[in-house]
Amino acid sequence: MSTKEYVNGVLHNIKRISPRQPIFFQAATEVLTSLVPLFEREGKYEKHSILERIIMPERTTIFRTTYINDAGKACVHFGYRVEFNSAIGPYKGGLRFHPTANLDVLKFLGFEQIFKNSLTGLNIGAGKGGANFDPKGKSDGEIMRFCQSFMNELFKLIGDVKDVPAGDIGVGGREIGYMFGQYKKLTNRFDGALTGKGLSWGGSLARTEATGYGSVYFAAEMLAKKGADLEGKKCSISGSGNVAIYTAEKLYDFGALPITVSDSTGYIYDKEGVDVALLKRLKEVERVGLKEYVKERKNAVFTPVSAYEEGRNGVWDVPCDAAFPSATQNELNLEDITTLYGNGCRLVCEGANMPSTLEAIEFMLSKKDFLFGPAKAANAGGVATSGLEMAQNAGMASWSFEEVDGKLHDIMRHIFKVSYDTSVEFGDEGNLVLGANIAGFRKVADAMIDQGYV
Ligand code: NDP
Repeated sequence: MSTKEYVNGVLHNIKRISPRQPIFFQAATEVLTSLVPLFEREGKYEKHSILERIIMPERTTIFRTTYINDAGKACVHFGYRVEFNSAIGPYKGGLRFHPTANLDVLKFLGFEQIFKNSLTGLNIGAGKGGANFDPKGKSDGEIMRFCQSFMNELFKLIGDVKDVPAGDIGVGGREIGYMFGQYKKLTNRFDGALTGKGLSWGGSLARTEATGYGSVYFAAEMLAKKGADLEGKKCSISGSGNVAIYTAEKLYDFGALPITVSDSTGYIYDKEGVDVALLKRLKEVERVGLKEYVKERKNAVFTPVSAYEEGRNGVWDVPCDAAFPSATQNELNLEDITTLYGNGCRLVCEGANMPSTLEAIEFMLSKKDFLFGPAKAANAGGVATSGLEMAQNAGMASWSFEEVDGKLHDIMRHIFKVSYDTSVEFGDEGNLVLGANIAGFRKVADAMIDQGYV
């Protein structure tokens, strides 16, 4: 049997045992197919059944989460924690509160996290969790009661050297605070069992900014390798949450101009450059839809989702030099990338997890004049800085913003270098999908072999 047939066999088996998990299957297909050159070179991974083991979470917990809403009604949701891989450190990965969060989505995210966390060079394993709960439109009291109920089960799993969740879509500083309070109450421990904490109670400076800043650092590295930079580049961003906001902020530092942001209601085109302070107020404080943005920025245009062409994400119609998808999975498809490319875009740097479909990735990799930064490398700055928060907590230390940001920048340079060098080692220079997947996989796979069959 050829290596390709072996890998296809493993993929076939995933489909057989997880038939209703197309998003997880998509993530597994992207990773496993890019590992073929490594498997052709090294027989040990097949011998130790690393693929068969690495695609299966070490532990998956599903639990009921019930809270009382403001009207006095009991509301019931699914809670999840997928503890995917602990070969190189405690499980680590965010919690997503969104109506679409289910086992398929959380398995895809946990699986991606294995390779991402490995690439950071830190000792962090992989996990992901969340609930099909929508924080949008809920009062603070409802959010707090939901978070407390969620933690009533989650605390059984987590701990500073066991499993360390953080935020993701729908989970920011407020939610982490309510969950940490309940964790403390239930365990009588003040430890680093969660990251993304408030600054006065164990959080790290620059954690909030880290994913967006890291994504821009990564884009700058990709361009520098080609002798170019971000100066003067018009950049399109999707999303308007944590990752999108701090991507926009850092782009200005590099002399680039972020011209779009989006949310689930539509997108903003601000040709004078996105007003980051206004965006922060609308999204972090007032928590309102993007339509509000144009009330204060008269020259900006809001296009509602209802005006999008069928099967398209309208934000990608805006001509730009570089795009930073920073909202959610599969938000950039083949038609979107064809439009972007036709309008002159020559770089995509993924802030969100798996925002590009497999067809869009294939298109980008086929263009010699295109730079593509895959999520597990480009958005690893968030989890890397969570790793730095864990280190500060363990040493009872608080590092300055500059110190953490400097370490973050170094980590992003390291991730780019190791991904690029690995692409060269395997004869496909500049293919960072292959480079990041193989580099991330090797470290975890070797650790699994060292630790025996567990
Ligand atoms: P936030 O909840 O802060 O923001 C998410 C943004 O994306 C919002 O603007 C939201 O709009 C929009 N969005 C979410 N789902 C959809 C959808 N189905 N259609 C259209 N718009 C949508 O999340 P983050 O910024 O933290 O996360 C964004 C992405 O980055 C996710 O893929 C996440 O996994 C990834 N990521 C985040 C990290 C972090 O540190 N936060 C680390 C690494 C990756 P609306 O508010 O209207 O729903």
